[in-house]
Amino acid sequence: MFSEKFNPRFIRSLLHSTPLSLAEVASLVNQYPLNLEQSAFLLSASDNAAACKLVIEAACKLRSARWQRRLFLMPPLYISDGDPGRGGCLDHCVYCPWRNGNIPIQHLKRLPPEAVAFEARHLLSLGYGDVELVAATDSKLLKAERAAEFVKAAKSAGAKNIGINLFPFRQPENYRQLVLAGCTFTIVWQETYQAGIYRKMHPKGPKANFNYRLNAHDRALIGGIKAVGLAFLGGLADWRFETLAAIAHAQYLKEEYGANIIFGMPRWKNGAGIPMKLAPNSYGDQEFEFVGALYSLAVPDSLLWFSTREHFDLSARCAKGGGCMFTLDCSTEVGGYTQKGGFAQFPVYTRSFGEGVKWLQQLGFDPKVNLPW
Ligand code: SF4
Repeated sequence: MFSEKFNPRFIRSLLHSTPLSLAEVASLVNQYPLNLEQSAFLLSASDNAAACKLVIEAACKLRSARWQRRLFLMPPLYISDGDPGRGGCLDHCVYCPWRNGNIPIQHLKRLPPEAVAFEARHLLSLGYGDVELVAATDSKLLKAERAAEFVKAAKSAGAKNIGINLFPFRQPENYRQLVLAGCTFTIVWQETYQAGIYRKMHPKGPKANFNYRLNAHDRALIGGIKAVGLAFLGGLADWRFETLAAIAHAQYLKEEYGANIIFGMPRWKNGAGIPMKLAPNSYGDQEFEFVGALYSLAVPDSLLWFSTREHFDLSARCAKGGGCMFTLDCSTEVGGYTQKGGFAQFPVYTRSFGEGVKWLQQLGFDPKVNLPW
């Protein structure tokens, strides 16, 4: 399990690597897959614009050779924002507008499987091939049997790959049930790999258990899931530490299980009723682009997933070369593609399938509607 291998002290020690010269950076970027120490050396050069450029160009070249500018389109389909009898989401994440008690009760919504099938059919009719099912921590969805009904509903609508972004299940056996229902990937963002900050951000609720979440990908992969998504939420903690921790996590899952890796790239954005105010931190657009490039050099077969929290132009710039997942149509309201009156989890950019595909093609990308695995 990753919690037994994860060594924050070692990662912190790597952050004090001596900055490299430009010539050393130029040599190192060609030595992919980079190990953790090499990744830390490149991180130490991240405030040098010329070094950043070398890293970004090398990653773009690598992704272009590996993926021939293919991008994989993935719409999220929100199925529940919580339990109406218990204040909504059972969790209290400080940064999230869906945290317990924040959504007015009249706006809480849970879709039944038939409505999920309807939403999925709508997305597929636009041209998509895969969907990601997303929900808050809902007591009804803590049981794999219930979650499997939603996966089956999306499958019956015709989706090829179905991912789940739900509260992680307890046993590998739970994931076996989901695989049998048609689930092919799971998304569990760790939010932060710094246990102390994690505790502050998740003061109570099921998500408060740091190690339970840290080991979620192990359980899913043991249960037969083939692709897993991991990420830190940019803005909560020191992005350099988080980046190295995410790389260590991905490399472990690859070595241990041969997992296909998706690196999420979410950055925190303010939303309705969030009390938290983050000090502006240094995880700006340049650092964001650099992190994506470093992920590609450290885990060359991985896909990056650019969130619609970001402006499309920034995501397209960071996705150069391909080898990335991309969202066009996006609603973070439950049932938000075919119904009105939901409560958005956070504000997003959205672009229609037809117009978005054309735009990506004009930029030289080759958008695909199914994941490559
Ligand atoms: S991030 Fe997820 S688990 Fe946390 S409050 Fe929001 S919906 Fe609930």
